[in-house]
Order: sequence, then C-alpha cells, then structure tokens
Amino acid sequence: MIVNTTIKNQKYRISFDVNLKKFIKRNLNNYYKVAILTDNNLYKIYKDILKIKGLLVLKIKPGETSKSHIVKNRLDEELLRSKFNRNSLLIGLGGGVVGDLTGFIAATLLRGVDLIHIPTSLVAIVDSSIGGKTGINSNMGKNLIGSFYNPTEIVVNTKFLETLPDKEIRQGLGEIIKYGIIKDLKLFRKLESSNVRFMENNKKDIASILKKCMEIKIKVVQKDFKESDLRSILNFGHTIGHAIEKLYSYKKSHGDCIGVGMAIESILAHEYFDLKHEDLLKIINILDKFGLRRVTYNINQVELLLDYMQLDKKNKGSSITFSLPCKIGTIMKIKDKHTVEVSRKTIKKVLIKYLNEFKNI
Ligand code: ADP
Ligand code: ZN
Repeated sequence: MIVNTTIKNQKYRISFDVNLKKFIKRNLNNYYKVAILTDNNLYKIYKDILKIKGLLVLKIKPGETSKSHIVKNRLDEELLRSKFNRNSLLIGLGGGVVGDLTGFIAATLLRGVDLIHIPTSLVAIVDSSIGGKTGINSNMGKNLIGSFYNPTEIVVNTKFLETLPDKEIRQGLGEIIKYGIIKDLKLFRKLESSNVRFMENNKKDIASILKKCMEIKIKVVQKDFKESDLRSILNFGHTIGHAIEKLYSYKKSHGDCIGVGMAIESILAHEYFDLKHEDLLKIINILDKFGLRRVTYNINQVELLLDYMQLDKKNKGSSITFSLPCKIGTIMKIKDKHTVEVSRKTIKKVLIKYLNEFKNI
C-alpha cells in the first residue's frame, strides 16, 4: 500500500509481514545511525529480534506517563550523545504510546529525522500509526504538545498480535467497530456475524479487517489532514469518550471509554437526529458483544462530564461539536459539514437517559 500524505507530494509505504531483522539490517546499511524505541514489555518479549550489531535500542516504561517532557528529554539527549545526525533513522516499535513519542522526537530532533513506525498493538495498527499525529502529554491534558509528522514507512506484522493481551485487543476492537459505524456497513455486518474471539484464530479475516480499517483512515486523513471537516468523523464516540477518560483521570483504557461514548452519541443521534432505533440497538448490541460498555459514571458526575467536554481543544463556544451517524456506515452531513453543534442542555438529557435506560452494569 502506498499512502500519499498530501504534503509536498510526499508518499510513504505500508508494508505487511516483513522479516524484521532483515528489514532493520537493510536500514542500517542505508543510514548513518539507526535507533529503535520500544517499551519494556515489548523488549522482554522481542529482545532477540533487536540484537543487531550497530542498532541503538532505547527503552521506556510502558504506559501514558512515558509521553512526557522528561522522558522525551532523556531520549533526545541519548540520541545526540550517540552522534545521531540528519542522515539517521528513528524507528518506533510498540503501541500508541511508543508511536506518539517516537514520532514527536523524530519531528523535533535536528528539525526532523526519518521515522518508521512498527505498530505492535491493534490500536496502533488500525489507528494511531496512521495520520501523522505525534505528541506528548501536559499536566493540563493528553496530547497537548506535539506536531503533525509522517513516517517514511509503516511496517505491519500481524504476528505481534499473538502476544497482545486480551484487554488490549478489546481496545483495538473499539476503534474497528467505530470504522464500521462511520464508514463501512459491510465491515459492521462482518463484525456482527464474527465470533467474539475471532482475533485469535481467523488470520485471513484479521488481515482483511485490518487492511480495511487502515484504508478508511488513510482515505479520510488524505482528504483532510489538519481536521478541518471530514477528519472529524473519526471522532465519533470520542467527544463523550474523552470526557469519561478524564473523569477517571485516564486510569480506564481509551477503547473502553469510547465504547460507552459511541453508545451515548448513538442515543443522541437517534433522539435528536436521523439514526433509526433499529440501528441504535445494533450498535449497543455489538458494543456489548465485544465487552465495550464496562465503564460507567453516575448521575452526580454528569455536570463534570459536560464541563470536560466544553474544555476539550476541539470545542469552541458553549455548544459541543459531534460527528454522528445517520445510519450504520454513514456519518450525517448537515450544510455540507460532517459535524453538528449540540447544546449542553441536550447532551445532559442524553447522558441521563443513558443512565436510566441503557446502562448495563
Ligand atoms: P495503545 O497501543 O493501545 O495506544 P500502549 O502503547 O500503551 O497503547 O500499548 C498498550 C499495552 O500493550 C502496553 O502495555 C504495551 O506494552 C503492550 N503491548 C503493545 N503491543 C504489544 C504486543 N504485541 N505484545 C504484548 N504487549 C504489547
Ligand atoms: Zn480512539
């Protein structure tokens, strides 16, 4: 797969099931220095692959706390100390955390060095490795410091998924279901008819589903890299999902929070816009089938959730912006825009309705 980045006619390649040792060795011949950044979990499992003469291996602690100025600073210094120059390559081997951090280092070190993503989690494969968003967290919130920076290549090896814990598979399924709802009825139906544990054995199905999701994301970001309209459709479930993540101080996983977010935003789409009741129920059912409605909130937290939504960097005035489905597979368009503004009062009603009529916990 070749991806056009729409910036300066740059292109990058997405390769599947590559022999990693050979791939890294080839790059060692092409660059002055090659460094690979990974987390300790992955290093423990895959250290043999990384034992390559001349390859600099950098490690971070797993988890969001590593997306910080302190960790970035340590890595920047380590790279410069080891004589990293403009003709050097930085590879990120890991999930979204490793990818975001590696991307941001590559974007800023020496004003930009070449970057390759090797996403190892389901979320990173179908979502975060594509689209050029890189960054770290601030005390004020997640991903507030960063830049748009594209890799020269993304290497997808589905074998990595064999060691990914069930909980992390579920997080990726949250994003995959999202792609079905916003853009692909066929994908949604396929997920509806799949066994809950299809990720464990059906290799052919997995590869085709991953490719489909990557294609959807690529098409969307190619048309609207800087999120002026179309890219917002990827935020379905995330307006409310992000507020729930913040409510739990980011201790609950992203996919679990956007699962509830998709359920509530679908109720909003049904109650106030065109989503049919039948489609709403299908969405709730598929989220339940994959265990994606396990996080909740209580009535006393509704106002706080609304405050968090209003604080979000994507919202402007007193109303809150949503991208909502009009049917499964399609995001509604009003006045040529893929977003709608909804008042705080309306969202409050929907948040309460969810607790009274839909909460399953
Ligand atoms: P995400 O990819 O969901 O954005 P992380 O980068 O935090 O988030 O990855 C989630 C967790 O999964 C981390 O603890 C990471 O070490 C672990 N992980 C990622 N890929 C693999 C893998 N292929 N095998 C085992 N653990 C993995
Ligand atoms: Zn997401």
